[in-house]
Amino acid sequence: MISPAPQPRLHPLLPRFDDDRAEQAFQLASLRDTRHGLALLTLAALVVSCGTLLAAWFHLPHDQPGYLPGQVLRATLLLAAIAAFVTVLKATEPNTLHNAGSVLLALGCMTIALRMTIPPPEGASLLVSMLHVTRDGTTLLLVVAIAVLTLLVGHFLIHAAIFALALTGMLVIAHTWPDGTPNATGFSYAFSSGFVFVLALGSGIQRLRRNMHVSRLELQLANAQLHELAIRDHLTSSLNRRHFYDVAEAELQRAQRYDAPVSLLLLDLDDFKGVNDRHGHACGDAVLCQLVELIQERLRNSDVLARLGGEEFVILLPETDLAAARLLADRLRQAIAEQPFEYSGIIIPLTTSWGVATAHAEDKGIDGLLNRADRALYVAKDSGRNRVCVEMTEGGP
Ligand code: GH3
Ligand code: MG
Ligand code: MG
Repeated sequence: MISPAPQPRLHPLLPRFDDDRAEQAFQLASLRDTRHGLALLTLAALVVSCGTLLAAWFHLPHDQPGYLPGQVLRATLLLAAIAAFVTVLKATEPNTLHNAGSVLLALGCMTIALRMTIPPPEGASLLVSMLHVTRDGTTLLLVVAIAVLTLLVGHFLIHAAIFALALTGMLVIAHTWPDGTPNATGFSYAFSSGFVFVLALGSGIQRLRRNMHVSRLELQLANAQLHELAIRDHLTSSLNRRHFYDVAEAELQRAQRYDAPVSLLLLDLDDFKGVNDRHGHACGDAVLCQLVELIQERLRNSDVLARLGGEEFVILLPETDLAAARLLADRLRQAIAEQPFEYSGIIIPLTTSWGVATAHAEDKGIDGLLNRADRALYVAKDSGRNRVCVEMTEGGP
C-alpha cells in the first residue's frame, strides 16, 4: 500500500514552502506555467520597447534633451527581451527562468523609472529630463509588478526588492523634482499603498498556487491509493482476481501477436482447512502472507502473481513455455515444502498442489488457459497432493 508522504507546509509569511526540496519540486512542477508566463512578459517587453523606440524615432525631435539616452535604454530593453525570450524557450531549469525574469525585470524597471517623459519639461537639463516621473510610469510599474509577482513562482523577494528600489527611486525623484510634481505627497501615498497592495496580492496568489499544488499532490496520492485498493488483495497485497484478468488478457493478446509463449501456474494449499482448525484463522492468514512473500521473491518482475480467492493463487509467466513453467512450479513447490512457516513460535508445515498450462494459438481468452490449469490442479490433488501436474498429463515429485 502506498503510504502518505507528509505534505509540505507553507512558510508562515513568505510565499514559499518551508521545506527547500518541496519548494524545488513545486517550481519544477510549475516549469511549464512559469515558462508561459515569462514568455508572455518578455514578448510584452519586446513589443513595448520596440514600439516606443520606433515612436520616439519618428515623432520626437532627435536633438531633444534626453532623447539619445532614452533610445539607448529602450534598445537595451529590446535586446534584453530578445535574449530573455530565447533563454525562456531553451530553459529546462526553474532557476534559469527566474534569473532571466529578474534581469529583464530590473532592466524594465530601470527603463520605466528613468524614462517616462515625453516630452520633458521646458528647458530641462539632460539629467532632469531623463528622470522625469509621470503617473503613467508609476502605474506601469505597478502593472508590471502584479504580472511578475503573480506569474513567476520563484525569486519573489528579489522581484519585490527590484520593484521597491524602482518605486523608491521614483518617489524620491517626485519629491525632489525642481518644478515640483503636483501633490508629490499624495502621489507617494497612493503609489506606496499601491505597491503594498501588489505585494500582498502577489504573495496571496503565490501561496494559493502552492496550496493548489498540495491539493493536487493529495489528490494524486488518493487516486494512487484507490487504484492500489482496486487492484490488490487486502490480506496478502498480491494482485486480485479482477486485475489479474485484465493483465492476463492483455498479456495473452500480446503473446499471440508476437507468437511468444505464455504459461500459467495455478496453486492450491493442501489441507489448509486443517491449518485453520489446528492453529486458528489468524495463523492461516499469516501463513498466506508469508507464502506470497516467498513466491514473489522467486519470480521475475514480468511474472504476475494474483490471489484468485481463498487459498488459491495464480501465476502468469510471460515468455515461458510449458517445460520451463513446470520446472518453476516444481521449484516453488519444493521451496514451500521446505520453508518453516511460523506463527507465534509455532512452525507450520505446508505443501501445495500445482496445475500448469500454456497458451495455445486457438485460445481466445484467459479462461481456456485457466480451465486447463484447473483440471491439472485437480489431477494433482486427486493423485496425492504436494505435486505438480501439467495440462492433460500427470506428474509428480
Ligand atoms: P485441499 O485443498 O488439500 O483439498 O484441502 P483444503 O483444506 O485446503 O481445502 P480447500 O482448498 O477447499 O479449503 C479452503 C480452506 O481455506 C477453507 C478456508 O478455511 C481456508 N481459507 C480460505 N480463505 C482463507 C483466508 O483468507 N484465510 C484463512 N485463514 N483461511 C482461508
Ligand atoms: Mg486447499
Ligand atoms: Mg482451495
